[in-house]
Amino acid sequence: MSKPTIAIVGRPNVGKSTLFNRLVGGRMAIVEDKPGVTRDRLYGNGSWLNYEFHVIDTGGIEIGDEPLLAQMRAQAEIAVDESDVILFIVDGKTGITDADEAVAQLLRRSKKPVVIGVNKLDNFKQREQVYEFYSLGLGDPYGISCAHGLGIGDLLDAVVEKFPSVGINDDEDGAIRFALIGRPNVGKSSLVNTILGKERVIVSDIAGTTRDAIDTPFTRDGQNFVIVDTAGIRRRGRVYEKTEKYSVLRAQRSIEESDVVLLLINGEEGIIEQDKKIAGYAHDAGRAMVIVVNKWDAVEKDGKTMDKFKKKIREQFQFIDYAPIVFLSALTGSRVDQILPVIQQVAENHSLRVQTSLLNDCIMDTVAMTPPPSDKGRRLKIYYTTQVAVRPPVFVLFVNDPELLHFSYVRHIENRIRETFGFIGTPIKILSRKKN
Ligand code: GDP
Ligand code: GDP
Repeated sequence: MSKPTIAIVGRPNVGKSTLFNRLVGGRMAIVEDKPGVTRDRLYGNGSWLNYEFHVIDTGGIEIGDEPLLAQMRAQAEIAVDESDVILFIVDGKTGITDADEAVAQLLRRSKKPVVIGVNKLDNFKQREQVYEFYSLGLGDPYGISCAHGLGIGDLLDAVVEKFPSVGINDDEDGAIRFALIGRPNVGKSSLVNTILGKERVIVSDIAGTTRDAIDTPFTRDGQNFVIVDTAGIRRRGRVYEKTEKYSVLRAQRSIEESDVVLLLINGEEGIIEQDKKIAGYAHDAGRAMVIVVNKWDAVEKDGKTMDKFKKKIREQFQFIDYAPIVFLSALTGSRVDQILPVIQQVAENHSLRVQTSLLNDCIMDTVAMTPPPSDKGRRLKIYYTTQVAVRPPVFVLFVNDPELLHFSYVRHIENRIRETFGFIGTPIKILSRKKN
């Protein structure tokens, strides 16, 4: 499930974000059936030939008012930590600068595969400018023009050639991969420890690929699980780790790598804007989700506190009303034993396939009970419904005219599908196609 990651580094204005947009262009345009959340153009998915990959634009991560060199150092460190291949972009018009040298030195020491793109070589004559960049000591530089789309193919050929070969953990025996997401200090690290300590789990100890060092596989009651990015959760101390952009980046990555997302909320402090943003990513990515209210031990409670908190969550997170809510304390361990069974349940729903005849019965009943409203004298007709995908479940309605299928009616159908078949904890998507 895990795709390789490319990180783009380089000085400001060399063309990183222009390249980023080119690499993720097609993928970002995938049409969602629900209004999404504004995306940070910092992390995206791309593909080249048969390869699919993640792309990070480290230029989007700024660390306070640090001077240029310190900024670039931090960005290069992030690239080294987070990626499989680094795309180092330099400006062919300006030539090598001190900052380029400093980054090159850091990258050389890291031993990570690096490909140099010498940008802004907009025509053939300028191609000679690439030779100067051999002196950075990072192998063959590739002349490109991100603005005009020149040389990008050769550059990507060089990048995908350096992707790691597929690791052992790609067949994880039906393991459920879950990620813990939430702002710093919400208790992610504590909850990982409590889950691993409290449950009678067998933590496998397979060394090898990069991902093995990052993720923690374990087994409980015969079910395999993987905690995604355990290393990232536990790591402490780098300056940039406290920046919001960086924590959002980590969250996006972990969401991509998992089946189930545990969104941790601090029971003492309530919900903040960033919690919603991250929940939005998980929803858009089609991941199953559980909302975990941690530090419940520290909350002064009466008989109504939990219901009140639940109500607040439902108000704030209307778009993920399918996510179950678990109140627990990573510190005392209270109710932590509920978490794995809930994860297992939502993962099952995430990959649930409904029998076509039952699905069509459900849709026909829905239409009979609440006919779709007519629009300028025309009425939607649904001929046939089928489930085309799982993880998450996707349904396609074959209709007379997709324009007549309004958002509110889609919502109504979604509710009926949920009432009939469950699907607790997973987003579902409903698409329509014109029946010819
Ligand atoms: P970043 O700061 O590294 O992300 O750089 P940007 O992608 O924002 O680009 C900085 C400037 O360089 C913008 O004005 C771009 O239009 C320009 N630029 C990017 N790629 C090229 C290129 O291939 N040729 C030329 N001539 N300009 C480019
Ligand atoms: P992370 O940054 O999200 O990984 O958070 P940590 O696991 O490092 O926890 C941050 C702080 O919150 C630590 O001081 C923990 O002891 C504390 N903490 C974590 N879980 C709980 C909890 O359930 N109850 C209380 N009272 N404190 C907790």
